[in-house]
Amino acid sequence: MDGVESVLSVAISRLEALLGERHLVLDPEGYLYDETPKPVRPEACRNVVVVKPGTTEEVSQIMKIASDLNIPVFVRGGGTGLSGGAIPTRPGIVISMERMNRIVEIDDKNLMAVCEAGVTLRQLLDSVEKIPGLSFPPHPGDESAQIGGLVVSNAGGARAVKYGVMRNYVVGLEIVLPTGEILNLGGKIIKNTTGYDLLHLVVGSQGTLCIVTKVILRLIPEPGATYTLVIPFESAENAIRAVPEILKSGIVPLAIEYMDIEAIRAGEAVTGKKWPHGGGNAHLMVIVDGVDEDELIQKSEVIERISRDYGALDVLVGIGRREQRDILEIRSLIYEGLKDETIEVLDVSVPPATIAEFVERCQKEAERIGVKVLHFGHAGDGNVHQQVLKSGMDESEWKEKYMKFKEFAFSVARELGGVITGEHGIGEVKKEDMFKTISQKELELMRAIKRVFDPNGILNPGKVL
Ligand SMILES: Cc1cc2nc3c(=O)[nH]c(=O)nc-3n(C[C@H](O)[C@H](O)[C@H](O)COP(=O)(O)OP(=O)(O)OC[C@H]3O[C@@H](n4cnc5c(N)ncnc54)[C@H](O)[C@@H]3O)c2cc1C
Repeated sequence: MDGVESVLSVAISRLEALLGERHLVLDPEGYLYDETPKPVRPEACRNVVVVKPGTTEEVSQIMKIASDLNIPVFVRGGGTGLSGGAIPTRPGIVISMERMNRIVEIDDKNLMAVCEAGVTLRQLLDSVEKIPGLSFPPHPGDESAQIGGLVVSNAGGARAVKYGVMRNYVVGLEIVLPTGEILNLGGKIIKNTTGYDLLHLVVGSQGTLCIVTKVILRLIPEPGATYTLVIPFESAENAIRAVPEILKSGIVPLAIEYMDIEAIRAGEAVTGKKWPHGGGNAHLMVIVDGVDEDELIQKSEVIERISRDYGALDVLVGIGRREQRDILEIRSLIYEGLKDETIEVLDVSVPPATIAEFVERCQKEAERIGVKVLHFGHAGDGNVHQQVLKSGMDESEWKEKYMKFKEFAFSVARELGGVITGEHGIGEVKKEDMFKTISQKELELMRAIKRVFDPNGILNPGKVL
């Protein structure tokens, strides 16, 4: 047994005494990846023990053991992340939050939900939807993501245009520090200026500062009914150019999503459902909400007028709940449909008014380089995703072309005042890119913050920094 293995075996006996054998997994295969296109993992990454705590106190005890033995710890939520945040990068302990899945309370007086971090998005939505008039708007595409994962990823999703991202909904957190101490940040409060805002430092920290065990979220009154408009255009330019005009019109849609027709086909294939319009090369999906039919019709008419000014081939309005759910499902599963062919999905974020320029320049460059890139996603908040595909190239060719395209996309983003990731995060896969794009001082501050929370660097090493 080498040094690492013998320390791990000591850890395993202490963890077994704490949790019992049935909450330890010694064959970690199902915990080595997330939804990021699969990187080749060094064999050492398999040398991990997976533990499934059921309480905050157990999480705290696990961290005390890890701290004591100086063993790396990786926290895993739903494993739906797209930047390799949850995957173990060296021998150590994987904490899977799946058993901490209790909804503690839906507080309809304060309009808040209290839940453990391992509750899935679907579970939360089911509980909230049972209370008439309440809703939880953030909706990243994969509902098996956990609330803890959504918080530390500061997840966005299609409805962010109107309702913002996770950060706008987190008011309280229970966290466990790498040393095992338990802390409560914020609470059932809307306003809080008590010193530095540690709660919002944790939001978006990708499991590198602490473990989130409980979350208090704001809920809002149900937005009312929705219509989903599907608008095909002949060209990407026209579709994307209509977006800033819709945003300027005074209407704030829940979502404005852009999709290349090939991306839609991938979503259709994986869902077995049919997109309402087969024509055009580029589509917008716009969701509007309103208190009554008059408001919905009025908003739809404004969007139709703008879209037709930009050459829309048609404007289809989905009214029924089921019809709208099917459209959203096709959109949400585009990534899934293309996954096997995917090199990487980039999620550059640029000022919303520059999204047309960003997409047009990237499409031209992809053609020039000879790499296939499908564009789809959150056009309304300047965060269109770029799925870069292998499309039959051999590894050396796709690697070279992908690197060229990525460099180009990141440099255009910087030129337009954007950043390299809007919602998927840095994780493991974009560290080098981040180092190139942020200032030395920012990096220094980030490293100093990491040291304060995690002096021995045991929590999610190899991620973000
Ligand atoms: C089909 C599809 C569509 C998607 N659409 C969107 C989208 O529209 N918008 C968007 O923002 N994202 C989207 N995502 C990405 C993903 O769903 C989000 O990043 C989500 O927030 C990840 O949550 P998770 O529970 O799966 O976290 P994981 O993947 O398990 O982990 C993500 C990170 O969080 C850390 N972590 C997890 N739980 C905890 C915890 N309790 N405490 C501390 N750290 C923790 C992990 O260590 C890791 O660094 C999509 C993914 C897929 C597969």
